[in-house]
Amino acid sequence: MAKITDILRTMEYGPSPESDEHVRAWLASHRDGFGHFVSGRFLKPGALFDVNNPATGERIAGVTQGTAADVDAAVRAARKALPKWSGLSGDARARHLYALARHVQKRERFLAVLESVDNGKPIRESRDIDVPLVARHFYHHAGWASLTASEFPGHRPVGVCGQIIPWNFPLLMLAWKIAPALAAGNTVVLKPAEFTPLTALAFAEICIEAGLPPGVVNIVTGDGSTGAALVAHEAVDKIAFTGSTEVGRAIRQATAGTGKKLSLELGGKSPFVVFEDADLDSAVEGVVDAIWFNQGEVCCAGSRLLAAESIAEKLYAKLRARMAHLRVGDPLDKSTDVGAIVAPVQLERITRLVDQGVREGAKIWRAPGALPERGCFYPPTLVTDVEPASTLAREEIFGPVLVTMTFRTPDEAIALANNSRYGLSASVWTENVNRALEFAARVKAGVVWINSTNLFDAAAGFGGYRESGFGREGGREGLAEYLVADAPKGRTNAKALAPPALTALPGQGPAPGADAIDRTAKLYIGGKQARPDSGYCYAVLDPKGAAVGLAGLGNRKDVRNAVEAATKASSWGAATAHNRAQVLYYVAENLEARATEFAERLRAMTGASLREAREEVETAVRRTFYYAGFADKYDGAVHATRTRFVTLAMNEPWGVMGLVCPNEAPLLGFVSLVMPAIAMGNCVVVAPSAAYPLSATDFYSVLDTSDVPAGVVNIVTGDSATLAKALADHDGVDALWYVGSAEGAKAVEAASAANLKATWTRQAPLDWREAQGREFLRRATQVKNIWTPYGE
Ligand code: NDP
Repeated sequence: MAKITDILRTMEYGPSPESDEHVRAWLASHRDGFGHFVSGRFLKPGALFDVNNPATGERIAGVTQGTAADVDAAVRAARKALPKWSGLSGDARARHLYALARHVQKRERFLAVLESVDNGKPIRESRDIDVPLVARHFYHHAGWASLTASEFPGHRPVGVCGQIIPWNFPLLMLAWKIAPALAAGNTVVLKPAEFTPLTALAFAEICIEAGLPPGVVNIVTGDGSTGAALVAHEAVDKIAFTGSTEVGRAIRQATAGTGKKLSLELGGKSPFVVFEDADLDSAVEGVVDAIWFNQGEVCCAGSRLLAAESIAEKLYAKLRARMAHLRVGDPLDKSTDVGAIVAPVQLERITRLVDQGVREGAKIWRAPGALPERGCFYPPTLVTDVEPASTLAREEIFGPVLVTMTFRTPDEAIALANNSRYGLSASVWTENVNRALEFAARVKAGVVWINSTNLFDAAAGFGGYRESGFGREGGREGLAEYLVADAPKGRTNAKALAPPALTALPGQGPAPGADAIDRTAKLYIGGKQARPDSGYCYAVLDPKGAAVGLAGLGNRKDVRNAVEAATKASSWGAATAHNRAQVLYYVAENLEARATEFAERLRAMTGASLREAREEVETAVRRTFYYAGFADKYDGAVHATRTRFVTLAMNEPWGVMGLVCPNEAPLLGFVSLVMPAIAMGNCVVVAPSAAYPLSATDFYSVLDTSDVPAGVVNIVTGDSATLAKALADHDGVDALWYVGSAEGAKAVEAASAANLKATWTRQAPLDWREAQGREFLRRATQVKNIWTPYGE
């Protein structure tokens, strides 16, 4: 018989299985298969696919493969339910959300067991993390339902939302999608992942129990083709997607030009940075939560451990010791730390990537010990000897595999952390608050955890930078994704001007018929006037067809130079908002001082009356003052998340923005796009009105005399479609605003899929007198949530 001292030494745990009796009974009651949930009831099951328990390989259910017709029925149901649901008072919607939250809580244990059986995650996690957070999301958003009207005046629900979720947090992702959508007054069609549809179907039962009106939530099960049908459906107003970057890109392309609102929460390869002054024992526990939580099948997993060289070996030794105590096995055992991988195909993917890494020279370490004989299991793995360029350091493995690298200086740590095409999250460990916050400010990630990791809360936004997608889930910023601003009230008399056909004229020279001085307006790049790479220019014609000047015909190469100049000017984003405000005031004053000249130019180009031209200039001046005022006032928030955490939501500039201006309102359109973008700290590359570019080229001297640093505003004149395409294709452009034709918007959105830049497209004509406000500032920034703990 074992002595107590032996037990204490080995800390062997006896089995402590959670009962799956109720889940088995529930599954048995659905042994004929699950149908879709449409219009408040379950449809008869159709062609079924198997759902397996990853820990055993056993088939546990048959679920209907959704067809395009099924998706159509669900979308129709959602559309039918929309007017009544969006017309309910916020309080009435709140009551429904509270009811959903309570019913989730009532079934907490059942849902946790079902999630573990379906996904393979340890019961400890589904019970203590996933399901409580699900309830929290519904409670939190019940509150938002009551507050949306007063907190988001001038906004309305988007409409019918198609929501596609992955298999790693099936019920939690459902809550992240459905709760804000419903709170804002939308109706939804949700497609769960093929591997893990069961908790969504259990949630459908909860919708019935809780008395949710039919059609508000619809659930269609199936594989990727079902998701694609939902994306393609014409009556869907918004797609919210969480999953791989590859599919996110396909969805961006499929929705291009459709006017569907889009949010994408994609993959990651997040850094977990340990400085030499970190509390190493805490950091080791952090690593466990960062990469072995949920078997590493976490989009924001801290999968790249970046350790200060001086403590790296010590840290690895501690990690190895800790890994030897991780228990891998039965997800339903309460003492299991690491459960099963979701499916054989995912296990193969992990194995293949690690094998490839080993072939490239990586060294792997695993704690001794056997894995369960059946089911999909992969041991916690520590990988050393990798280069930043190697496969394992770059690719999202989505498994319990930690890759390590070292750094010597804080700058090197930042450079390594940012050396990824992703930017979802980052975790930093140091006892030095200045260092932690500096890292948080400089890392390209949507969520930063200081001395902590993998913390989530309904009140905080979650979502990525770069190829990790755009849009946020959770918090005020997440709710905004489910609302649209009402169209401006004023109506414009302007007609959308067809893009002019620009005839290339060789070289520089006077406009035909003009006096013989070189009047060609050049491009404006890096604070200097530059001749276009093509060597060509084009005539700017007034409405009667008479030439009023010449403008440079910019091309892809000019856009490249302009992006380079904008990138070099990035310290503008780090300047104090006060500084930026002062510069914008100066721009406004200098524009005002030259109001007559600008009005004359508008009159000459567009044929506007002097009164109209003056009004346009005056509005442009007021608008510049407006954004100067806002430069230091569009600030962030401290979200009320957990106790002993300050969760800062910071509005950060994108970096380099491309702005494609309308033909109408050549000065006001230009100012309306440029000023909010630079007020927020972006550097911009602007394609001004192609038909009437001379207000923008006259602006060079306003910029020069107003202390706008070189490279902050770069202006490339020429054909809008060519320049828009070059900006959309350019990986160095982080966000792109486009105003123009429907075809132009479609082309820009499709091309932007390559680096998943955020786009904002608007179709001309707009009433530019009305085009100002917080929405422009929101679109000129992305929110970074920084979780900062306090207390010993
Ligand atoms: P996917 O991106 O394929 O799946 C996510 C969701 O999208 C699922 O519901 C899926 O359906 C659906 N889907 C698949 N193809 C399409 C399509 N063309 N149009 C619309 N919806 C579609 O991820 P996988 O499950 O294939 O996982 C592959 C890899 O992606 C993982 O190894 C991991 O690296 C990454 N991943 C990242 C996640 C994240 O949270 N960032 C989550 C999951 C995976 P179905 O499940 O039926 O295929």
